[in-house]
Amino acid sequence: MPLPRLLRHVLLPLLLAVLVAPALAEPSVRELLERARAATDRDPIEGRRLAEAALQALTAQPDADLEIEARLLLCDHHAERDPEAAQREVKIIGELLPRARRSGLRAGLLGCMGQMREFASDTVRARALYEEAVQLAEQADDADMLANALYQRGYLRGVQGELASGLTDLRRAHQLYSKLEQAPRVANVLNAIAIIYNRMGDHAQARDYFQQSLRQLEIVGALREQAVTLHNLGRALENLGDREAARLQYEAALATSRRIDFPRGEAYALRGIASLANLAGTADQALARLDEADARIGDAPDQRLRAQILLQRGIALRLKKRYAESVQALERALRIFAEADSRNELAATYGALAATHAEAGEWRAAFEREADFKTESDRLLRLQLDQRFATLKIEFDTATKDREYALLQRENRATEQALQHEQRANQLKVIVIGLAAVLLLALALLMLRQWRTSRTMRSLALTDELTGLPNRRAVLTRLQALLDQPGSPPCAVLLADLDHFKRINDEHGHLVGDEVLRSVAARLTESVREPMCVGRLGGEEFLVVLPDTDLEAARQAAERIRESVASLELQRGATPWKLTVSLGVAASGPGVGTVSDMLRRADAALYDAKRAGRNRVIALVA
Ligand code: GH3
Ligand code: MG
Ligand code: MG
Repeated sequence: MPLPRLLRHVLLPLLLAVLVAPALAEPSVRELLERARAATDRDPIEGRRLAEAALQALTAQPDADLEIEARLLLCDHHAERDPEAAQREVKIIGELLPRARRSGLRAGLLGCMGQMREFASDTVRARALYEEAVQLAEQADDADMLANALYQRGYLRGVQGELASGLTDLRRAHQLYSKLEQAPRVANVLNAIAIIYNRMGDHAQARDYFQQSLRQLEIVGALREQAVTLHNLGRALENLGDREAARLQYEAALATSRRIDFPRGEAYALRGIASLANLAGTADQALARLDEADARIGDAPDQRLRAQILLQRGIALRLKKRYAESVQALERALRIFAEADSRNELAATYGALAATHAEAGEWRAAFEREADFKTESDRLLRLQLDQRFATLKIEFDTATKDREYALLQRENRATEQALQHEQRANQLKVIVIGLAAVLLLALALLMLRQWRTSRTMRSLALTDELTGLPNRRAVLTRLQALLDQPGSPPCAVLLADLDHFKRINDEHGHLVGDEVLRSVAARLTESVREPMCVGRLGGEEFLVVLPDTDLEAARQAAERIRESVASLELQRGATPWKLTVSLGVAASGPGVGTVSDMLRRADAALYDAKRAGRNRVIALVA
């Protein structure tokens, strides 16, 4: 198939299919769940709608895990609004769980059940459920579920006055959510940490944490949590005595709650505004706000909120001098706070009751409530102090552990670096040693070559090329050395010259002459033994040096040489011919001490031998 057709019929449609298919596909259940989870904090109604859409999508393709996740979202949604609807989800989730692959999901169910108990002010059961959820999520190694369980338990611990351990839970949850990159949850945990500081009586810390959390929530766009945090920030500011700033936060909380149809948020904000009105002494305004708040919560199962509203109502009614109604409201609040174990609110309510009784002139009741107030406040103060110390200790321990860990890490890094340095040094050492070895070897080879060359040069310089005998310089150096020895015994020389050698050259040619010279040289070498030494002076002249030899012994040696040369059998074709040599002998002695003295005398003796008819030895006596 040619390329253009291939392109048109195969590749192009394939490309189109790849590009278009995902756009046409329905959003997956997983996507719906992600969106639902993201929406819960920002827009609870939308979160619920998306969770229900996910359930709808699951009817076609059932999946126990995904269905549980969807129902957990719905359960959390209903827990604070519609306990019966939440209970229905709990039941279905319980039936689905045996089929679930992700065992950590059971922790999610326990969490939602805990929420329901908590909203019903059954904190004892709520606490037990959260404990179980934490354990289960830890066992299942489910970070997501563990973070939720820790958040819930830490929050409740804080409410119950276990501030230090609550803070520890919340910090763990903060770490997990940060690692899971769940920004809205990170903000919620910051919020909860701030609440704990509030309970410790550290309102300034609380204000800072609330503000930090608020910034996060604004970025995420989680309006519901913003409403809650704005309210909490308002309370911290109220506690710090900054009523104007507090009012602004409560108003903002109210506006935000209205925007997202969050009645509980509205009720909390209205309660805050009423509290400020009470502080300003405008009881009518306070009562109007509290009526509004009551209308907003309707039959939402938030007993603590109800009690807080009752507390403010009690204060407002006292301001209106409606003491009986005030006491009634405050007594009701008291019961709920006592049940919920809310210590600081309990103390505040005792205080308010004491004030009402006092104003009403009921001195005994006033005294009793004042005593309760004092006991409760002292208890609260002690608790806050204990918790602050416990928190400091946990913080100190954590910081110490962190420091120790950092120190250990630094040490490890240092050791690692030292090891690396050592390794590099060792590598360098090996390289240097290797290079040095190579260099030394090269140097040794060079020296060996140099030595061989110089030896060759030396031997070339001291050897006669034709015969291989020591040359003139070598043999004369030897003689000189003998003569130079201090107090050496006399020595002698023989100067040998072939007879009529010119004729050999003339008759047989130069090459034969050379051959003859080599034969004579071989004969001389045979006849001359160490420490004697023979060399070629040049042409057909040879010099023999005889150490420690007198003239007579030298003459005898010369005679032997003469005979040896004469006995040489030379052949040219069929005709044998003879070669003779004449020798002049000289010995060192008085007046004969140098090389030239010796040569001159030997030459004179040789001359005499030639003149006397050749083939003879003449020793010149001094
Ligand atoms: P005498 O008996 O008086 O010594 O006679 P002679 O011919 O040996 O002496 P002369 O000095 O007249 O001749 C020496 C010759 O030796 C001359 C030269 O051609 C020959 N000769 C010198 N060196 C060499 C050599 O290396 N090779 C050959 N083939 N001949 C050489
Ligand atoms: Mg000669
Ligand atoms: Mg000669």
